[in-house]
Amino acid sequence: MTEDIRIRDFLRSLEPDGDPLCERIAADAAERGIPIVKRETGAFLKVLAAVGKPGAILEIGTAVGYSAILMALAAPEGCRITTIEKDAARAAEARENVRRAGIEERIAVICGDADEILGTLADETYDLVFMDAAKGQYIKWLPDALRVLRPGGILAADNVLQGGTVFESRFAVERRDRTIHARMREFLWELKHRDGLRSAVLTVGDGVAVAVKTGPAQ
Ligand code: SAH
Ligand code: MG
Repeated sequence: MTEDIRIRDFLRSLEPDGDPLCERIAADAAERGIPIVKRETGAFLKVLAAVGKPGAILEIGTAVGYSAILMALAAPEGCRITTIEKDAARAAEARENVRRAGIEERIAVICGDADEILGTLADETYDLVFMDAAKGQYIKWLPDALRVLRPGGILAADNVLQGGTVFESRFAVERRDRTIHARMREFLWELKHRDGLRSAVLTVGDGVAVAVKTGPAQ
């Protein structure tokens, strides 16, 4: 564990400072306890946003817009990002941050519950879907996330290792966390076994699962 922390700190120390506005948003979010992506997860997202030259990205869980802005700045200029946030105050703040970044025409913040919004999105629209909201819902959102992905598109999900407890027996997990724990295991199992998906689970940050849609959504 100590080694893990040393490796993590080393990797984190390699990260150059990012865009100044992103750095300010990150520092402010950390102060207020808003759970934005870890630094190294941000670096990984930038790679994903650049690698396949995505034309459209969907994010579930905007918070104050940090990861959306970070992806927008790494993606090709023509890429449009749609991001869903159910908390109205956070959605408003995200819009303000997007405006400050001067990229309002590239990021649309939808204020609403992903439970309702996902069903309204058209099939095979997005090249990248990034799930970073209520972890217990990932398994429920998976069919819609795959439906809206283009063939060859990528699904990434954050916080899949539950602060390192995902492998523990359910009895070792606090009672209140057991449902989320079980659902996250089910989600990872699905990503690995579902037809039409090829996936890997990475120990980046709080754990990121990444899957490519190789066939039609099941
Ligand atoms: N992706 C952001 C962090 C998101 S934090 C970043 O890295 O910058 C997770 C966010 O998901 C929270 O702001 C929370 O309000 C939102 N959320 C949780 N459940 C949701 C749901 N069902 N629909 C939409 N947003 C949700
Ligand atoms: Mg996260």
